[in-house]
Amino acid sequence: LKSSEDTPSFTVKSYACQRRTPLKHHNTFLTEALEILAENAEFGENEGRSVAFRRSASVLKALPYAVRQMDDLKNLPCLGEHSQRVIKEILEDGSSREVESTRQSAQFQAMKALTGVFGVGVRSADRGFREGLLCPSDLIRTGQKLNKAQQAGVQYYDDLNRPVTKQEALAISQIVERAVNSVLPGSIITLTGGFRRGKEVGHDVDFLITHEEEGVEEGLMPKLVNWLDEQGFLLYQKTTRNSYLESKDGPARPPNNMDRFERCFSIFKLGQCSEDSSAVLETGSDDSGTTDNVNGTTRQQPGSSWRAVRVDLVVSPFSQFAFATLGWTGSKLFERELRRWAGQEKGMSLSSHALYDSKQQRYLRANSEEEIFAHLGLEFIPPCERNS
Ligand code: ATP
Ligand code: MN
Ligand code: MN
Repeated sequence: LKSSEDTPSFTVKSYACQRRTPLKHHNTFLTEALEILAENAEFGENEGRSVAFRRSASVLKALPYAVRQMDDLKNLPCLGEHSQRVIKEILEDGSSREVESTRQSAQFQAMKALTGVFGVGVRSADRGFREGLLCPSDLIRTGQKLNKAQQAGVQYYDDLNRPVTKQEALAISQIVERAVNSVLPGSIITLTGGFRRGKEVGHDVDFLITHEEEGVEEGLMPKLVNWLDEQGFLLYQKTTRNSYLESKDGPARPPNNMDRFERCFSIFKLGQCSEDSSAVLETGSDDSGTTDNVNGTTRQQPGSSWRAVRVDLVVSPFSQFAFATLGWTGSKLFERELRRWAGQEKGMSLSSHALYDSKQQRYLRANSEEEIFAHLGLEFIPPCERNS
């Protein structure tokens, strides 16, 4: 029995990791609204509420049709009462009062602006807002104590809030490849994160690095960072060393979802990206970028020959590479759902390092993402359909 003339009956599985979610879908109008409420819940540190809105939005992203009436939502999982109320209002009135008043509220706007500064999390943004700060330049104007990351965040605010293009990501890939190959020839470098899922733009560029010969990757990160720094490619970097072996809570159970790989959160200085991306390689150590001091924050002038780009570098041992690749490809909700599926449906524990089977009391090995999905009893979902 068909549910309606133009919307074929379509079943949606309840975990995001059981579904294919393309980047472009038919319900952006609704998902953007639900994600405003999710973001606002995150600002209020209400994780349960935020995940509920994100799950609702994610279900709509997986539909092969545009939702036009409440009937189109029949039999769909994860749509809580609150999400349904919001969707109903948008379908009937064109917008939701709750979403619009959230979007326009001073608190939401301030939180959005302040958390938009690299290095500023929800906690410090909230403290700032309660002290009357509304935007990044207020951090400087009121003489807030800023750590190194936050100072860089303010300094490069405009650049870091301008989306990184695929072309810029590829130019950075070339630099990273050159750097890695000069410090450890034969290494394997993978572009992960949103760009691996087929996104055209991103907020940063994510790389995962490994080497087939287990163990030789140890100590790679400091050498890599040194090389990049010497060549003038780094505006900021913070390297965290591998703490996997020291953890007491077991490899598959890191606190929250942070992993323990050797990693580097950095800000790259990327030469002007022309059609010919080889030009980029020669401008790395060029210091001619002009800066301008506005309200105490140093801003780059539009005509500058370089821009700042956020780059994440992660090094993994070869034996954990498949888990690391899966864990760093995202989306964040897809990752979260994979771990929930593993725990609740399979009695397993999944991290970016390993998969532990509690029933068999052993770690399950995997050399590819496909093998991990198979261990989990899931159909393989390619990266471009993990845009949950
Ligand atoms: P964007 O285009 O906005 O960068 P993205 O999907 O690449 O989108 P990121 O924040 O770069 O988002 O995260 C990429 C992946 O890396 C996600 O799957 C996330 O789970 C993982 N990740 C990010 N930060 C950490 C962290 N500190 N520890 C472990 N995994 C992380
Ligand atoms: Mn990313
Ligand atoms: Mn990242």
